[in-house]
Amino acid sequence: MLTERIGRITPSATLAMTAKASELRLAGKKVINLSVGEPDFPTPENIRNAGKFAIDNGITRYTPGGGTLELKKAASKKMFRDNSLHYEPSQILISSGGKHSLFNACQALFQSGDEVIIFSPYWVSFPDFVSVTGAKPIFVNTNPREQYEPVWDDLKLKISSKTKGIIINSPSNPTGGVWSDEAVIKVLEFANKIDAWVFSDECYEQLTYDKPYKSTATLVDNTDKILTFQSCSKTYAMTGWRIGYTAGNTEVIEGMGKLQGQSTSCPNSIAQEAAIEALTGDQSAVASMRSVFKVRRDYIVNRLNKMNGVNCDIPGGAFYVFPDFKAIIQNNNLIKCSDDLCMYLLEKKSLVSVSGKAFGSNGNIRFSYAASDKDLEQAMNLVEESLNELQ
Ligand code: PLP
Repeated sequence: MLTERIGRITPSATLAMTAKASELRLAGKKVINLSVGEPDFPTPENIRNAGKFAIDNGITRYTPGGGTLELKKAASKKMFRDNSLHYEPSQILISSGGKHSLFNACQALFQSGDEVIIFSPYWVSFPDFVSVTGAKPIFVNTNPREQYEPVWDDLKLKISSKTKGIIINSPSNPTGGVWSDEAVIKVLEFANKIDAWVFSDECYEQLTYDKPYKSTATLVDNTDKILTFQSCSKTYAMTGWRIGYTAGNTEVIEGMGKLQGQSTSCPNSIAQEAAIEALTGDQSAVASMRSVFKVRRDYIVNRLNKMNGVNCDIPGGAFYVFPDFKAIIQNNNLIKCSDDLCMYLLEKKSLVSVSGKAFGSNGNIRFSYAASDKDLEQAMNLVEESLNELQ
């Protein structure tokens, strides 16, 4: 009954785990949920107030399809202030979240016969964005010891005249890896040789803990084929407001805008007003959230590395750790892959996480540390307890 296109889509594993957590809670269990991909902080008050102002003052109607000029100006100002990026409002499209931006861009640029390079482990949605266009996702291995930077020989092997795009996501979901400038530049050089588009998914750009973040488009002179994707979701704890934006080549921005206009009409008008405040108002909440996340990262990495058979490289950003449990899986009769371990944690301990398999890595599990200190401590006790039971 359904089209072949729909058949190419895999439901999001992370959303599926969130649903499982709700089910367990409804059944009366005390659940600790480390599967979430969103800050556990409320949206800052000044941003909430801007949303309330919009509701009370009639900013509740359709806006231009690609977002209001005021918000495009705010995004332009923010990218200049925080990222030294120079984009005019005409080079910016506002969408209903970064996911919508990336989906639109794939629709605008890729089609059947094209190949798109995705670095593995990858965010669950990238392969689907690509395959729904008819193009083929091509996975390139990365090195966990080096913040999941590309394995260069593998990139060399997989890149071809069919490569139409390369997706960079640093800081990364699920690994938290933050690439060095040299690694990003090297990928840009590969892309340049074959004239491929580079998507820079920068939705975690404010969440780096060991060095300041540099946007991809600031690292080279020729930025014609670089598209920058940012979002209010993680930076301003605004996941439910659904505002993201793309900046780059005006023809692509217009193409994405056409598609968006015929699918969603426009992003939510109230959320757009709130996003102006988020991007241009008081930024102090961003720094406070970052410093809390850093303490939690250090705690969780330290706890995991003390466990027998677990290896957790220190992620430079985002709010995820991606520990490697291969040593345990390889020697166990009960637990054969990360799915099994994830299910064990869920069913025996009511601890929700996401199996690395969903991100293309079968020996790992993704834990989000966007959770309270108490939950993190309890969760780590439960992982430790489980490993003792299993070894
Ligand atoms: N890119 C990555 C790597 C993500 O992890 C997410 C959300 O989890 C997004 C983009 C999109 O976020 P949003 O649509 O909320 O802006």
